[in-house]
Amino acid sequence: QVLDISWFTESMREGRPVTVESRHHIQVRDFDALEVLAESSEFNENEGRCLAFRRAASVLKSLPSAVRSLGATQGLPCLGEHTEAVIEEILQFGRCFKVEEIQCDERYQALKLFTSVFGVGPKTAEKWYRRGLRSFKEILNEPAIQLNKMQRAGFLYYRDISKTVSKAEAQALRCIIEETVHWIMPDAILALTGGFRRGKEYGHDVDFLVTTPELGREEGLLLHVIDRLQDQGILLYCEHQGTTFDATKLPSCNFEAMDHFEKCFLIVRLYEDQVEGGLQRNPGDSRAWRAIRVDLVVPPVDRYATALLGWTGSRQFVRDLRRFARKERRMLFDNHALYDKTKKMFLSTTTEEDIFVHLGLEYVEPWQRNA
Ligand code: ATP
Ligand code: MN
Ligand code: MN
Repeated sequence: QVLDISWFTESMREGRPVTVESRHHIQVRDFDALEVLAESSEFNENEGRCLAFRRAASVLKSLPSAVRSLGATQGLPCLGEHTEAVIEEILQFGRCFKVEEIQCDERYQALKLFTSVFGVGPKTAEKWYRRGLRSFKEILNEPAIQLNKMQRAGFLYYRDISKTVSKAEAQALRCIIEETVHWIMPDAILALTGGFRRGKEYGHDVDFLVTTPELGREEGLLLHVIDRLQDQGILLYCEHQGTTFDATKLPSCNFEAMDHFEKCFLIVRLYEDQVEGGLQRNPGDSRAWRAIRVDLVVPPVDRYATALLGWTGSRQFVRDLRRFARKERRMLFDNHALYDKTKKMFLSTTTEEDIFVHLGLEYVEPWQRNA
């Protein structure tokens, strides 16, 4: 079966970001294989190769139907020889030996396990691995290991927060956050962002943007919200980061840079009776609540559109859009601002649509941003 990919390659040739709709469910196996290779490259600090595998996976995901023959991938952009080889092997043998080798590798297994803990990145994971540690038990029993507050919370709530969050649970959290924010400031603006805004059924956390209709009134709001959640007895963990936002700075050229808005990373308690259809549980767990990771970000209202685009993701989509802006339009943008290098000026954005208009692209709906 040969795919019609002309519509697709044309837009890719122009360097446009790949759009992937949340309803696409095609041969998950191939993407999983590429994700293992991407992850393994990440652990080996080979960022270029990691990106190449993730980009290839996005391209495959965006296809209207499954790849059933090698011929079907001919002419597709972003598929390097490594990816081609993987697809060929999977088509021929139903599995990829390189991927299986990685999955059996002791270091890959340990780093994957360690980085699954909230607060543990590849660097810490590598450090623990080098010490000869291989399991959570060994880490927790090693007196020389000093866990920070985030990692302690990560281990304490591991069972709950390593489990996916459902749409119903995200909706329930939205109600809680909305009520809390509006109790403090009735006209504050709240938006659900991240994967759930892109229409995903499941996520690893729930992300929100909070701002105020008038510039400056957002100051102090987040600390109030945190206090109020604490008073309700549902705040299990909170890391607050004050703003370091500087309006005079040009957008970052680093596509992976974190933003400078005030924000907090939370773990929140969600009760059974707050969720339509009940909680997602681990087997044998009969508690009336579960812990969920929540991110709250507070941009000033004049930065709302770029912040919303950045926090809606996906990571891959936003990275490609930034690359397109820089390479094809000589424009820089990040979560804070959009800047035209030719005109040497910031472009004002009130809505996400404005950003696409400035970039000369058709609007891409959030649910098409699942690259
Ligand atoms: P998941 O369902 O796994 O949560 P997600 O797409 O919601 O998927 P998140 O990690 O929650 O993933 O991130 C949402 C978006 O916000 C992504 O596009 C990510 O790049 C961006 N993002 C996450 N953390 C930061 C940060 N500290 N600064 C700026 N942007 C961030
Ligand atoms: Mn998320
Ligand atoms: Mn998040």
